[in-house]
Amino acid sequence: MTLLPAWYPWPETETKPAPMPLLLVQAFVNTLDLDQGQDLLSSDWFVGAGLLDASADVGAGELELARAMRESIRQLLESGDGDLGPLREVAAGRAARLLVGERGALALAPPGQGDLTDALFQLLLIVRAAQEAGTWSRLRICANDDCRWAFYDRSKNRQGQWCDMAVCGNRLKNRELRARRRNESRTPAPAGAKPG
Ligand SMILES: [Zn+2]
Repeated sequence: MTLLPAWYPWPETETKPAPMPLLLVQAFVNTLDLDQGQDLLSSDWFVGAGLLDASADVGAGELELARAMRESIRQLLESGDGDLGPLREVAAGRAARLLVGERGALALAPPGQGDLTDALFQLLLIVRAAQEAGTWSRLRICANDDCRWAFYDRSKNRQGQWCDMAVCGNRLKNRELRARRRNESRTPAPAGAKPG
């Protein structure tokens, strides 16, 4: 079992986690379990993930923007495109700061207003860094339409399709197998075959 932080949604079921800090973006997308219809996104989730101060005031409009941005990122991961409006709204509202860390390590950070939009901006900075590092394309969406879970694809060819082969891959494979058998049963039996 992989040891994941407590802020990761349903950590005990995750078999394909991204490395930090991209794990934060994966977790953000997966706060919505489409299969079970459960949504863990709240200001508490952002506080738990270290993206937001516990004393921050969070309005309903900001949480709505967070949900819209979550869906944008899911679309982006799924098809490489989608509604970019929420991403643009968050990006347009803030300017990044350049920080000089230990041994001259340069890092981009949100402006430090400490609100939820800052937290969303930080997630976008993580996406930006992953795009530059080439790890962004490893974050994928499960091909099971009922699932659409974000998983990190470590395969060499980057063609992974399932969040979990046992859960989603086999379910679809079995469905395809049953469909094939149904088709085969309609074709006439080969000559010499024993009557069923
Ligand atoms: Zn899945």
